[in-house]
Amino acid sequence: MNILVINCGSSSLKYQLIDSDSKDVLAKGLCERIGIEGSQITHTPKGGEKKTEQIPMPDHVAAVDAVLAKLTDATVGVVTSLDQIDAVGHRIVHGGEKFASSVVITDEVIKAIEEVSDLAPLHNPANLIGIRSCQKLMPGVPMVAVFDTAFHQTMPKKAYLYGLPYEYYEKYKVRRYGFHGTSHDYVSGRIAQILGKKREDLKIIVCHLGNGASVSAVMNGECVDTSMGLTPLEGLIMGTRCGDIDPAVIGFLAQKEGKTAEEMIDICNKKSGVLGLSGGVSSDFRDLAAAEESGNELASTALSAWSYRVAKYIGAYTAAMNGVDVIVFTAGVGENNITARAEIMSYLGYLGVTVNEDANCVRGEEVEISTADSNVKVWVVPTDEEMAIAEQTAALV
Ligand code: AMP
Repeated sequence: MNILVINCGSSSLKYQLIDSDSKDVLAKGLCERIGIEGSQITHTPKGGEKKTEQIPMPDHVAAVDAVLAKLTDATVGVVTSLDQIDAVGHRIVHGGEKFASSVVITDEVIKAIEEVSDLAPLHNPANLIGIRSCQKLMPGVPMVAVFDTAFHQTMPKKAYLYGLPYEYYEKYKVRRYGFHGTSHDYVSGRIAQILGKKREDLKIIVCHLGNGASVSAVMNGECVDTSMGLTPLEGLIMGTRCGDIDPAVIGFLAQKEGKTAEEMIDICNKKSGVLGLSGGVSSDFRDLAAAEESGNELASTALSAWSYRVAKYIGAYTAAMNGVDVIVFTAGVGENNITARAEIMSYLGYLGVTVNEDANCVRGEEVEISTADSNVKVWVVPTDEEMAIAEQTAALV
């Protein structure tokens, strides 16, 4: 089946056309600056060249239209007609408590996604625009919603409740939800496959370390805890997000700096993390490593604080599961940053983790980076959220 995977943001739209049987990515691309002057589409057909073209895209319908034109184009296209697109899988950021798995999109599902939109006001409305635009241009093609939060819906109450008055949970559903669920689900499933075991029989800690980052604890085949919360701001120190802080900091700084709570939260989301800690060097780990190398102390502190936080979460989740069999690194930093992995593993001696330094030099591949006699196995497993969305979509339609 040919599945079009759509990840729609407020002014951008990422897409991949995937053959879910052969697991071939037939084409992929990105529309940027939708609704803004200078909108452009970057399209890469399988085996072909990546090309960027300026196309006016005043709204998301125009963006989806441009994507479909590229996919069916006589020269850079990969299908001859839209009939060859069997289904569309949409990445939806927040499913609230309503969605514990992916679902075929119906009017009721759209209504339910709308109802939880106040939990993700920047993301869900954009995701819905993506759904409606596809429905308009591809009437009758089945569509599936795949939620970032769904995999974490198995967390027990003791893990997902905040220590706040219970009425806020009852009235507003304020609780921890977790994100990157498609990735945590895929990677924890894949590591079980690699080890030739059932996921149910393993205690797994997945470290999804990209620009956004989160850790999850998977036991008895289910997510039992994860580091992101009501929003993706909680947990690890990230590229630009602060992760866990004392909530009183917001009020304190709002008063000192004459800012509103919203402005402070914006700083916590966009100007903090390793970017903020390094005094503005970069949110990108390659830039930070280069700065550290040339003697920038703040860059070095930012990287140390980042890996220390990851190590603390691994410790916490080992306690939560009363043990751990395998720790897995994934996403941009987890898959590629050898130094960051080594630094995190340097904290794990108490677990009996021993590092295979030669294996840890590998980037972007499935590889065991602990030694054969390590008490806990440590692996790198590249994530593939788009493939997971395509597979779930194909399974449902
Ligand atoms: P993601 O959000 O998963 O795309 O991850 C982005 C992060 O991965 C950025 O901070 C990059 O610096 C980091 N990254 C990607 N490739 C490499 C690499 N080869 N070496 C070190 N860091 C990398």
